[in-house]
Formats: sequence, structure tokens, C-alpha cells
Amino acid sequence: SKIQELIELDKKHYIHPTTDPKLLAEEGPPIIFAGGEGIYADHVNGDRYIDGMSMLWNVNLGHGVAELADAAREQMMKIAYASSFKGFSNEPAIELAKKIADMTPGDLEAVFYTSGGSESNDTAFKLARFYWEIKGKPSKKKIIAVSNAYHGVTIGAQTATALQAFHEFSGSNIPGLFVHATAHLLNAEQGDKNDPQYEESIRAAIEREGADNIAAIIIEPVQGAGGVNIPPEGYLQAVRKLADEHDILFIADEVICGFGRTGTMFGVENWNVVPDLMSIAKGITSGYSQLGAVVMNKEFRDTLVSFEGVLAHGFTYSGHPTACAVALKNIEMLERDNVLDNVKAMEKVMRDGLAYLKEKHDIVTNTRVIGLLAAFDLREDRENDKTFAPEVKAAPTIVDECFDRKLILRPLGMDRIAIAPPLIINKEEVEKIIAIIDESITAFKNKIK
Ligand code: PLP
Repeated sequence: SKIQELIELDKKHYIHPTTDPKLLAEEGPPIIFAGGEGIYADHVNGDRYIDGMSMLWNVNLGHGVAELADAAREQMMKIAYASSFKGFSNEPAIELAKKIADMTPGDLEAVFYTSGGSESNDTAFKLARFYWEIKGKPSKKKIIAVSNAYHGVTIGAQTATALQAFHEFSGSNIPGLFVHATAHLLNAEQGDKNDPQYEESIRAAIEREGADNIAAIIIEPVQGAGGVNIPPEGYLQAVRKLADEHDILFIADEVICGFGRTGTMFGVENWNVVPDLMSIAKGITSGYSQLGAVVMNKEFRDTLVSFEGVLAHGFTYSGHPTACAVALKNIEMLERDNVLDNVKAMEKVMRDGLAYLKEKHDIVTNTRVIGLLAAFDLREDRENDKTFAPEVKAAPTIVDECFDRKLILRPLGMDRIAIAPPLIINKEEVEKIIAIIDESITAFKNKIK
């Protein structure tokens, strides 16, 4: 059949990211996406799945949004692409830059465009170092990142990433330029209290390396791939203070959190923190087009423009007019359709659903949700915080059970499951997700009996 043929071609010719290449070459792709609508994504064989992860935490407005497709087509028909070399500009890129300056908190004011999150973070690192060069402090080069961080896979972003497999992949990390400190509290249920240990770890890193050698600190307001770790109250504010005290730039990696995911337009707004630099991507276009950016505050922007010479950094697709036009329409829709109100309302439904799962299943613990970014942990013995043996593959097995029931979720390691559906989800759909997880946990428990 046509589908079997696609599977065979995939096995032979397509090397997939973040996948076991041997297993995939043997078994082929579990799904070949062919269509979608709202929170649903369709397999090429016609089976319809709930996209419980907004694909890779990015399809915020859901699938099949004609207005976004129209915006892309309309812009493509005007001009294929527009070079940004030597200051050449284009309308959507200008309008989007202004829109982002208006919608981001505090004095964030100007953007540098990229094509995705890793490029945004690498750009933030390079611009931060350049900033200190302009300021006459060229020794400020190192970047502090925190444990469990995920910042992407380009060589700079990979080095900032703390998750070991990514950090060490092919030995491509940069020795000596990045420092890791302790991160967010993992147990979100205790997350309403700040644990000074986390700030202390960052303070210790600054003191050990010397503030004169540190350019910036990068933090995800809520860590995604590292476990959906919601910071304890006071933590981000304390990091902001530490950065100010030591003349260190604060980079917020808003690649997942940005554009409504946590119930505010940007994650930092939950804690009233304004970073100096903000990395954005993913939800900026709801995944309909590839776009990222680094947003910088006024002082940073003014410093950059005080430099005489060429800013020798940029990508062919920096400020791509199609991507920027899609982003403008995406942001217009987020605002026009009051999507944040829906996120807040659905956060409550999700919280109630997770509480129900925890009540019913004694292997469920550490349920957490902020906006539509949610997760729970699995324990063989919840009272004694005893994890399942790794060979049980608790989280991957339950996620497979969900997949068999036409729900796509994501395991984070062996003991955690993330849930991050499109922001336009309704109550019945959230309840359906919870019902499928409920059945899947029961099936898992029966399996390991
Ligand atoms: N930063 C965060 C917080 C992410 O979650 C990701 C991707 O998942 C990235 C950066 C990297 O973005 P990209 O995959 O678009 O390069």
C-alpha cells in the first residue's frame, strides 16, 4: 500500500531528530502526520489523534487555521523572500518588531530575528558577549545555565543545555564557556515556597567564576524538556536581583513559555520579572512557520547601535517576510480571540483532572500545571518517593498506552509525563485527555501486576 511504501522510504532515507536511529530504521515511524484540525492531528491512514503536546509545545492555536495559511500565502505572493543584508528590510519584519516591543514586558524594545529556539539562544549568547565588549568589559564571556535546562542543540545552546545526553552529544559542547548551577525545585507541590539553596547555588557559581568573567545567566521561566519544573515563588525575582548586583545579563528562554503557554503572554510575567534579553520561537507562529527572535531591552539596543562597524552575525532567514506575516496574524488571533482567558479557564479544568488522577491512582504524584503546561510524576511507592525500576519504563509505557488510545503525550525520562495541548482546547477535550490517561494508567498497572 501507499502507507507501507512511505514507511519503507522513511526507514531507508530519513534520519529523524531526537530518535533512536536503529530502532526507527527497523520499525519505521509510529505515525505519519497528514492533516489536522484544532487539537487533532491525523495519521496518513486516517486515524485521528488528540495532539496533547501541541506537537513540540508549539502549535498554540491548533491545526488547520485558515487565517494563518492565508497570511502566509498572501505574503508569499507579494515577494518570495527579502534579504536583510546591509539593512534591507521588509514590512512584516518591521511591523512584527514593533508588535513584539509593545507586547513584551518592561523596556524590552528591539528584536534580532532567527529561525528557531536554538538559533535564538546562540544569538543571545553572542550578543551578550558582544555587549560587554562594547562596554569595555571583554572578560565577561561565560554564561551561567541551570541544571535540567534545555536550550536547544546548536553548539552554544547544547552547551547551555544541562540534560546530559544533549549536552554531551558527540562531544560538541564548548569547554569552559558555560557554568551550570542548581535549578528549579523539581517537586512542584512544594513550589510555593522559595528554597534559598537555588539562589545560593547561582550566587556560588558567580563567586567561583568571578562576576568579571560572566556575561549572562539563562533560565527558562518554566523548564520544559527538563521536567516541566515550575519555579518556586521568589526564585526568578531573586535571580533578577543577583544579576543586577553582579552586572550580569538575565536571558529568559521563553521558547516554550512565550505566546500564552503559561496563561500570561510570556512566562516571566507570572513573577513580574523583566529580563534583559528574551529568546522566543515556537508559539510565535503556532508552528505554522519557522521563526525565532531575541528581544532586547532599550539599554541593550542602545548599546548595540553605539557600535561602529558590522554586526557580524545573522541568518539568511532572519526576518523572513512569510514567517513574520504568519507571526503577526498569530499574535493578532491570540489577542483578538482572548486565548489567554481560555488558557486560564482550562488550567483549572486540567488541575482538577490531575487531582482526580492522583486521587484515583496511587502511582501518580507531583501533579503540576501552569496555564496549559502540565505534568505529573510516577512512583512505585508514592509515600516513600520510590521510583519504578528504569526497566519498567513507567512513563514511556503509559505514553504508549495513551497513543494506542489516540492521545499523543510525551514522557520526560522514565518517571514524568508532560501535557501541553493547543491553547484553544475546550473543557470536554481536556476531560477526554484526562479520561484517556486514566485508562492508560490502569492498563499499565494491570501490565506490571
Ligand atoms: N529552548 C527551549 C526552552 C526549548 O524547549 C527548545 C526546543 O524545544 C529550544 C530552546 C530549542 O528550540 P529549537 O528546537 O527551535 O531550536
